[in-house]
Amino acid sequence: MISAQVQLASYLFASILFILSLGGLSSQTSARRGVLYGIIGMIIAVVSTVLGQGVAGHAYIIAAIAIASVIGLLLARRVEMTSMPQLVAILHSFVGLAAVLVGFGSYIDPHTQAITGVSHSIHLAEIFIGVFIGAITFTGSIIAWGKLEGKIRSKPLLYPGRHMVNILLVIGCLVLGVFFSMATGTGGMLYLIIMTAIASFIGIMLVMAIGGADMPVVVSMLNSYSGWAAAAAGFMLGNDLLIVTGALVGSSGAILSIIMCEAMNRSFFSVIFGGFGATPTGPAKAVTGEVTAMDHSEVAALLKEAKSVVIVPGYGMAVAKAQFPIKEMVEKLESENKEVRFGIHPVAGRLPGHMNVLLAEANLPYDIVLEMEEINDDLPDTDLVLVIGANDIVNPGALDDENSPIYGMPVIEVWNAKNVIVMKRSMATGYAGVQNPLFFKSNTNMLYGDAKDSVSKINGLLH
Ligand code: NDP
Repeated sequence: MISAQVQLASYLFASILFILSLGGLSSQTSARRGVLYGIIGMIIAVVSTVLGQGVAGHAYIIAAIAIASVIGLLLARRVEMTSMPQLVAILHSFVGLAAVLVGFGSYIDPHTQAITGVSHSIHLAEIFIGVFIGAITFTGSIIAWGKLEGKIRSKPLLYPGRHMVNILLVIGCLVLGVFFSMATGTGGMLYLIIMTAIASFIGIMLVMAIGGADMPVVVSMLNSYSGWAAAAAGFMLGNDLLIVTGALVGSSGAILSIIMCEAMNRSFFSVIFGGFGATPTGPAKAVTGEVTAMDHSEVAALLKEAKSVVIVPGYGMAVAKAQFPIKEMVEKLESENKEVRFGIHPVAGRLPGHMNVLLAEANLPYDIVLEMEEINDDLPDTDLVLVIGANDIVNPGALDDENSPIYGMPVIEVWNAKNVIVMKRSMATGYAGVQNPLFFKSNTNMLYGDAKDSVSKINGLLH
């Protein structure tokens, strides 16, 4: 057992480590250190909570932590990099569920019933709000998981009057909250249960209404919700560290969501309320031109001629694990004094920063990895762009087809380069399910096949 003062000091120390962790994660060079701070902070947080005053049943707690740690380790080791967003989404749902369970547990706790006056009302408000946020996070994250896993269609589920229905449901929850706060003992249980059901429904409908290409914002938004759910649980349990941690996650998730919205040229509110004004009004623009393909030796010949090359990776690079042969290709091209750079779209792949992580895994130097807005201006002077497993992020329809579901999203304007090679397995669409007019442009050629396989074959032809 540790004293309350020691626990408070440990909580303060853990909070500082969490802040340092977030700071570390903001750059690739310090990310490892950031993760380490986070791990140490979490160990201190868990140990000082479990050893705190008034905690009983240590054997059960240790057994639960051990079992959960084994499950977590196995899952994290087994999960493919391409499935990380789904894992993150399902973990968010656990935080939501935890907040709901803590809320119900706290409500039936005899200590809660013993509180009187204003403190009691405040505690009831904490429970009600905590369960509300938790239930939305829980079901919303499960739907997000389903959409990312391809189990639920990514097309937005929009029906007339949905905003009105959502507003009425929230008003209904407020009314239930008033009845809940007036009930004595555990008499408000029914109101709490009905509100949980309504909030769960709101969570489902909010995420169902969000279209494929806007999913990155949903993932970061649910990350933010999970933080607020944790903070609410902290209020219910009177745990300062949980409040601080939840607020850190909640606010950093909200900032990330806003950054992602800006990157995609979407209004934050239109995304979170689902498809506000984003519904196309007519059929997509007819695509003109012809699709032409090249083989590996023709692409190798283009590479030998080119002086400047830009590589634009996407989700397909992650699926194929092509980053390793790409590194070899970059080395070969640089040894021939060619300028080779990467252009990274903020929503490439299935996770914010997905491409940067993969390129770092292959030890590619950071200074040749540029952001979309840094590379776009240079593309007209680029000899060759290799689009490796990317699709939506290089779709010109986002700029010139008002009826495209991704209209308005800035993209990497690869077609401005002299030549473009698109490496993918077929003419299949990307995550947003939209046809890509890039493939039909006269300066663009397809190289069909698995990206890793294609890059390795080209490497064999470069001397
Ligand atoms: P896309 O999903 O648009 O396209 C990926 C392409 O990769 C597919 O068209 C596929 O074509 C190809 N591909 C798949 N496997 C392979 C392989 N083994 N070898 C070669 N090619 C392959 O990905 P982008 O990165 O261009 O765009 C990301 C999309 O995901 C955006 O719509 C974004 O909004 C969305 N999204 C992003 C998130 C994020 O946080 N970054 C989160 C959730 C969604 P084919 O089958 O023909 O090979």
